[in-house]
This record gives sequence, structure tokens and C-alpha cells, in this order.
Amino acid sequence: MPAINRIAAAAAEMTEWRRDLHAHPELGFEEVRTSQIVAEKLQSWGITVTRDIATTGLVGTLKVGTSDRAIGIRADMDALPMTEENGFEHASQNPGRMHACGHDGHTTILLGAAKYLAETRNFDGTVHFIFQPAEEGGGGGRVMVEEGLFDRFPCDFVFGLHNDTAIPYGKMRAVPGAVSAHSDRFWVHIKGKGGHAARPAAAIDPVVIGSHIVLALQSIVARRVDALDSAVISITQFHAGSAGNVIPDEAKLNGTVRTLTTEVQETIEPLMRQIIESTAAAHGASATLEYSRGYPPVVNHQEATERAVRAAARIVGEENVIRSGRPRMGGEDFSYMAQKVPGCFIRVGQAQGDKGTTSVHHPLYDFNDDILPLGASLWATLVEQELPRS
Ligand SMILES: [Zn+2]
Ligand SMILES: [Zn+2]
Repeated sequence: MPAINRIAAAAAEMTEWRRDLHAHPELGFEEVRTSQIVAEKLQSWGITVTRDIATTGLVGTLKVGTSDRAIGIRADMDALPMTEENGFEHASQNPGRMHACGHDGHTTILLGAAKYLAETRNFDGTVHFIFQPAEEGGGGGRVMVEEGLFDRFPCDFVFGLHNDTAIPYGKMRAVPGAVSAHSDRFWVHIKGKGGHAARPAAAIDPVVIGSHIVLALQSIVARRVDALDSAVISITQFHAGSAGNVIPDEAKLNGTVRTLTTEVQETIEPLMRQIIESTAAAHGASATLEYSRGYPPVVNHQEATERAVRAAARIVGEENVIRSGRPRMGGEDFSYMAQKVPGCFIRVGQAQGDKGTTSVHHPLYDFNDDILPLGASLWATLVEQELPRS
């Protein structure tokens, strides 16, 4: 794959950085080590660093020449609260923390591009390298924007990327319009009445009620959302009880709702509330729904997408740039940046035979290091294309 030669030559070094980050994952707003490493590297290449934006976020600024054009490129730095099951040498050394979404790779890609651009300086304008904390639920992108990211570092366009385990290595995808989903979270609290497990009639069993609720909630997507609209309701946690012979007093459920339009998003919450409250009431219990709206969809700007496609085509070839396709139901807080500045979020394929195909957020996931040079070349090419020397 035709990565920029100079970047391809740095592949081994980038792989080292990536594996070091992978071995030391940090959760959102706690990326102290990661942001320190990023800041030190950027500074060592002569890039101006502004730290402490959204706690652990930072921006590296590289200005070359006299043009007042500027672009922003963003990478996320955080890991997930889960336990890695990989046995390789660079597996997580932090229990209960794992880079299972490849943000270690995204950070490394942006570092690789920054190093190349600082050394070659073959452009005229300003690049802001944006390293954000807390993409996985904490809304680090939103906090950076709220803290004046684009007032302090004005950009004509902003770009971001994500590795993609369903797209083959050597392909990239950039599609205008919505490319990710509304990503909402909810908690259900069921209040029953505890008692001896041998005498259920004297108790109100929140486990049975919770089970009814889990199943009933699935009927919203199956029966209440238009067949041509998209929605997902996933219950991902069910907590109750502490002993084999005790019916607990209460149960708690937690989960996520994904939708592509505000209209469908607004339909689901009241339906959930109705089902949860009435199912509990039917069993003589009470239940409440706590619902919190999350990231809005990333909406790729038409012109920003065309610019990204042009740069991607120069790396992987016109025929390997996917320019259409359905949005993903994942959430992505790059949306807050793309709401402020025309932006494009690009998917970079990492599936290579058996390698790079394990889904993100899986305990056996790993970022495919072979795409480091491709990603860094994409960013470098984009900068040289968008900020041309006259
Ligand atoms: Zn993720
Ligand atoms: Zn991610």
C-alpha cells in the first residue's frame, strides 16, 4: 500500500509507540501518562503544545509559512473499563482497563503525521493536532468544544478517523451526511420486596420483574419503531441480589439506545417509561427510568468529505475509497467538533485475513499496526493538500 515513503520508514517506531500506549490504557479524563507522552513527543519535534483542555486534552500547533488557512485533526486517547484477554506482550498492564477501541492507534497515527509534518514542513498554514480525552462516554470532545477549542484554535475544517474491523485493510470510507448514531444511556431501578427464596409469595421479586422488562423493551424496536427506521435498545447490565436463598429488594438495569434521527430518538424514551412503569405495576412493584441523552450523530460535511476523499484516494487509490454506505449505530463524540467546524470522519479499514477483524469493545480486540502508516499518510497528505505552498 503506497504510504508516504518517509512515514512507511517510521512504521516500526510507530508500532512501538502504539504498543506502549496499548499496554498502559487510561480511562476518560485520566489520560495523564498518555497526554504526557503525546506532549513530550510533539514538543521534541518543535510543535507548540497547549495542555489541560478538558482536563487531559491537548492541542499541538504547527504553523509554517504565512497563510492564515488552518485545519484541525483530532485523535482520541482513552481506553475502556474492561479486562483484556489477549496474551501478547503488549497486552494491558492496567487491570480493568483496555484499549479495545483502537484509540491507542488513532493517537499514534496523529503523532506519526505530526512528526512527518514537523520534519518536512512542506505546507503553508497552520495545523492543530487535537488530542482529546474521554471519547468512550465522557464526552471529551464536547468538553473541549465548550472550553473554546475552535475559538482558541480556529480551523477551516476538522477531520477525524476510526479504525474499522469490517472494512478490508487498504480501503478507507468517507461518506457525507450522518455516519454515526444518537447514543443515549439509561438506568432502570426496580423496587420490589425482598424475602426468603422459599416463600416467593410473600415477596415481590424484582429479578422476575426485571426479566419481563428486559424482554418487553425489545418489543419497542420490533413493534413500535417504523420498519424503515433504525433503532437499537441493548440492556447491558442487570444487577440484583447477593445470595442464593434471598429474593432481593431491588434490581438495576443499565443499557443504551441508538437511533439515527431525533424523531426516532424522541419516540423511544416515553415508550420505555411506559413499559417499565406498567410492567412493574402489573407485578405490584415500582420502577423508574433514568434516561440520559448522549452524543448526537456525526454528520459529515459535504465539502470536507470531498477533501478527505481526495487525500484518501492519493494513499489507497480512487477505487479503494468507499464513498457510500449505511451509517453505523455506534456513537462518536467527534460530532461536537463537526457541529462547530465543517468536518469529516473517515473509517480506515483494518481487516487483513484473520488479523484486525475482532470487533472493537471485545476483550480480544487489537489495533492492526499495519494501518499506522496509512493513517499517518492520510493526515499528512490532507495537510499538504489543504494547505498548499504557493
Ligand atoms: Zn469505542
Ligand atoms: Zn472508538
